[in-house]
Amino acid sequence: SSRRLSGLGNPESNGVPDAKNLRVKLVLLGDSGVGKSCIVLRFVRGQFDPTSKVTIGASFLSQTIALQDSTTVKFEIWDTAGQERYAALAPLYYRGAAVAVIVYDITSPESFNKAQYWVKELQKHGSPDIVLALVGNKADLHENREVPVQDGMDYAEKNGMFFIETSAKTADNINQLFEGFTSLFY
Ligand code: GDP
Repeated sequence: SSRRLSGLGNPESNGVPDAKNLRVKLVLLGDSGVGKSCIVLRFVRGQFDPTSKVTIGASFLSQTIALQDSTTVKFEIWDTAGQERYAALAPLYYRGAAVAVIVYDITSPESFNKAQYWVKELQKHGSPDIVLALVGNKADLHENREVPVQDGMDYAEKNGMFFIETSAKTADNINQLFEGFTSLFY
């Protein structure tokens, strides 16, 4: 596998990012319970472990993707750590973020409404060139689906966002979500 765990902790202070080693700050937003932590853990650790978030306690996790031409993209993934309300009001959270991933749960129309609220927040307060992605998570729960795929797609298209449905539980589209961003940065 070309993915590897690059560890927990503070960003490395050595080395200015260059064309070969890109660093991308990515923030996650969305209602509590939509699966943000599970998405990160699935991507970074390859596991689905809903109980592990309390024990992590890191401000962010990072994961490096190696591309074909020896370029690497290191994602610094910031999760709200359960402070969804606070994060909305904290421009520090998304300052310097190249990508904002806004997550909802396809079984929860409320969470889809909340996602739209975050999009508006970021359009108002985020950097003008931030890349926005809309993610409908828990796609494995299709029997309980209450947000049609088309609604997510339409909203994303209107707002110039990426769109994908994922399942942190089954790993569907999790790598694709992050790999989709790599082409933006080199
Ligand atoms: P967060 O508050 O947005 O970080 O949400 P969590 O990552 O803590 O997930 C909330 C709950 O949703 C957990 O109990 C997970 O078991 C569940 N969950 C997360 N992702 C999925 C998924 O893709 N499918 C299903 N069925 N459950 C999920």
